[in-house]
Order: sequence, then structure tokens, then C-alpha cells
Amino acid sequence: MNTTTPSSARVDLRSDTVTRPTAGMREAMAQALVGDDVFGDDPSVNELQEKIAKMLGFEAALFMSTGTQSNLCGILSHCQRGDEYIAGQMAHCYRWEGGGAAVFGSVQPQPLTQQADGSLALQDIEAAIKPDDAHFAKTKMVALENTWGGKVLPQSYLNDYSNFVQEKGLARHLDGARLFNAAVAQATALGTSPYAEVKNITQCFDSVSVCFSKGLGAPMGSALCGSKEYIAKAHRLRKMAGGGLRQAGFMAAAVSYALDHHVTRMAEDHQLMAHLAQGLAGIPGLQFETPQTNILFVDLVGEAKSRGAALQAHLKSEGIDMTGLYRLRFVTHLDVDRAGVDRAIAAIRQFFGA
Ligand SMILES: *Cc1c(COP(=O)(O)O)cnc(C)c1O
Repeated sequence: MNTTTPSSARVDLRSDTVTRPTAGMREAMAQALVGDDVFGDDPSVNELQEKIAKMLGFEAALFMSTGTQSNLCGILSHCQRGDEYIAGQMAHCYRWEGGGAAVFGSVQPQPLTQQADGSLALQDIEAAIKPDDAHFAKTKMVALENTWGGKVLPQSYLNDYSNFVQEKGLARHLDGARLFNAAVAQATALGTSPYAEVKNITQCFDSVSVCFSKGLGAPMGSALCGSKEYIAKAHRLRKMAGGGLRQAGFMAAAVSYALDHHVTRMAEDHQLMAHLAQGLAGIPGLQFETPQTNILFVDLVGEAKSRGAALQAHLKSEGIDMTGLYRLRFVTHLDVDRAGVDRAIAAIRQFFGA
């Protein structure tokens, strides 16, 4: 639990982006050595870029303002005007980024309906790859997202995807906003190291974008990782996208601190989410799958379906925040503890008289 957050505070289950920097992180930021990163002079940014590239097994990395900027520069470093990228219908880099790759890069997205586990069926990818013909955009890249809606893509699928997409001569991009949640969950299930699982996942891709402002608990930032040549292209694009920051080392120092202290602890977020799901089990009108990481989607069905707004208002009055009306979303993170989750369970049970 984050000691800068009083336990009497609201229980904020809206998103893992709501965390405030911990005391240790604030100290690391205060002590950070900084310089002008547009000149390449910021030691803290340079250190972070080397660190994350190494952790993910790539030659190079670039610190980005946001995950959206990172995916945008990531896609445009693989694709030119008139090219196309394949992504899930519900993928963040297709659906939730304002169509940036199309707007700024004239790159056409080809969305595909995902399987229930978040994967793209290889036969669907194959059918969507355009022939080399003047009628079509040129297919260049296939993006996956892991975790997707809190689900961990199976490692065996990633391996198959990787071989298949490479055979087709296309680039493999991972939107790994919550890569570390996936790796920690995988490590917990297998009894292995999260750091080893990070690399098992990332070795299936040519480029990976990872968010630091989510489960890792940093105030902002993402990184794009890839080959030196690829990151050099992304560096130019980042400048065009207004992402050339100056003394960004204050943020990079917060991220480095998070990478040192907040990775393995994500297992606690996952346990807390499992605890929340157990606490909600058996309430009539609530339907959900067992959560795999730190996100739980709950569908309101039957008579409960029309009660979403009232539930949200009730929880708000009890000091608990979450999002959604028919499909509720709960997220655990660094700034929630077991007492907070117990308060949420009790308030929801009370509302449904369960
Ligand atoms: C949050 C998120 C992003 C974008 O990150 P921002 O920093 O909010 O721009 C990209 N992909 C996924 C899967 C995300 O959850």
C-alpha cells in the first residue's frame, strides 16, 4: 500500500492510472540528475532507456510521454503512407487512440474480431493480409495487446503468432501497456521469474510499447523498444508528435524507481483482484469471468441490468469509485489495499441485499 495515501481516502477502483507517487519515488525524483533530452543530455532518461531496453531484450528504447504516443510512433516506424496494420477490433491501438495512425500517418488500420482470450486467429490474419496488387494497401504489421482487458495471451499462442507473422514477412508489434502484469501473472502460474517471463513475451515481437503510468505506478510515461534502426526512426517521429521533452529525467527517475520496486509487487494487485471476485461471487445479476490480473469486468444481467447507475451512485456515497454502467470495471493497483477492497465488497453486497 502506498503510504502517501491515507487509508481513510476514497477507494478508487476506476483505473490503475490513478496512483500517486510513493514516498520513495518522490525521493528518487527529487534526487534525479537531469539535462536537456532533446540534446540527448539527460542522464536519467538515458539510463532508463538502457534499462528498459535490456529488461525487454531489445537493442534500444525511447521514453515517450504516453502509451498513445508510443503506439503512434511505433506504428509509423513500421508503416508508410498507404500501408496497413492489422489489429484487434477492440485493440487500444485501433479503437481508443483517435485513429491517430490514419490521421497523422495515412496508415490504414485493418481491424479483426478478437477471440475471447484477446488473440487474433492466425487464419483471420492470413485472410486479411492483402495480395501485392494495385487495389490494396500494403499490409506491413500485425499488432497484439497483452494483457488485453486484463487477460494474459497464452505464451504458446504468442510463439505461434510470432512464427506465422515472421513467415509472412510482416512486423510484429506488441501494445504491452500492461506487459508487466502479464509477465507477473505468468510467473505466478508457472513458479518462474517475472523478469524471465517478460523476455519470453517480448521475444515474440519486433517492437514493444510499455506503459509506466499504470500498474507500475509512475506519474507518466511509456517506452517504445526495438532495434537501433527502428528506434532512430521513432525518435524523428516522436519529435514531430511533439514528444521531444527537455528535463524529462524527473519522470524517468520515477520510472526507474518503479522498475526496481514495483514489478514483483504486482502479484499483490492480482491477489487483491482475486479477493474482490471471490467477494462478489454468487450475487444474483452479476456475471464475470475469473480475473487473471488486476482488472475485473462485471456484466449486470437480468433485473440488475438497469441498476448500474444506482449502484455507481451508492458506491460513490460509500467512498468507492469505479466505472461502467452495464459492464462495470474494477481495477486494483498500488493505491488500494485489502481493507479498501473489503469495503467495496460490503457496499456492493449491501446494495444487492446479498
Ligand atoms: C492505457 C493504454 C494505452 C495508452 O496509454 P496512454 O498513456 O493513456 O496514452 C495503450 N494501450 C493500452 C492497452 C492501454 O491500456
